[in-house]
Amino acid sequence: MAPAESEIIRWRVFLIVARAWLALIIALALLTLLLVNIVSVTKLSSAYAWLAGCIIFLHHAKCIIAERIGLSRYSRNIPEKIMAEFRYVKEKSGISYSIPIYMKPDSVARAAIYGFGIPYISAVTVSTGICNITPHEWRGVFAHEFAHIKIMNSYGILSLTLLIKLLSIYCGIFWVTEILEFYDDYALATVCAIIFLYYINPLLLAVLNYGISFPINRRFEYAADAFGAYILGSADHVIDVLKIFKKINHGGGAENSPGFIPAEITHPSLDKRISALEKLKTKPS
Ligand SMILES: [Zn+2]
Repeated sequence: MAPAESEIIRWRVFLIVARAWLALIIALALLTLLLVNIVSVTKLSSAYAWLAGCIIFLHHAKCIIAERIGLSRYSRNIPEKIMAEFRYVKEKSGISYSIPIYMKPDSVARAAIYGFGIPYISAVTVSTGICNITPHEWRGVFAHEFAHIKIMNSYGILSLTLLIKLLSIYCGIFWVTEILEFYDDYALATVCAIIFLYYINPLLLAVLNYGISFPINRRFEYAADAFGAYILGSADHVIDVLKIFKKINHGGGAENSPGFIPAEITHPSLDKRISALEKLKTKPS
């Protein structure tokens, strides 16, 4: 007989989601304030900021569409027993538009959602590394991915990424125009622009990502785990699938495969995610 499934404590789920959104909103507000402060120096600099913003936005839109089109090279031949769980969780999540699912040839256990939850461009990918998990665990995989759509965190992370890129580019524009104003030397300004583009900008981006973006993303991974448990009414599915991921990705040999990137930079460790989910369970009566 299958073990009795845990109920989950709803208020804790909503607290985790709310805290992640609060951290994101504070970061967005502070970064916007910083940007507005340096942009508003001169009329010309705010024109540059608009231009940089438009270029970054268009570039991102192109990347999102290209990435989505690129998925079509993967197999859509998903066994019916997996599709049944996919449809079940999708319906439980209350998502009515169609979302295709692709299987990527990859021995590392991973699953991802593409397209930011926007109808027509959203898709789910799963790796062949997890094709042998049980239906109970598949529910956990899909609940986590659909939770990302339900709590709308990808919109937030997208705007944070755009803002961080704009800020990092704008800092360069600001620096170079300051030099021009002070020394009136185009050669020096050009050298400074090149130094900024190749050395300072990547460093600034890394600092902003590691310091702001990734910690907030990790909060949203906890939130997606918790909301996934809420969708299913039980934390056991997600807990069990995280344990399987741990087995495959840490000790199963997958970590030695080429292109293996540990998810622990943008995601919390699997152990931390499992213990956070354990705390959502009601005590058995
Ligand atoms: Zn996730």
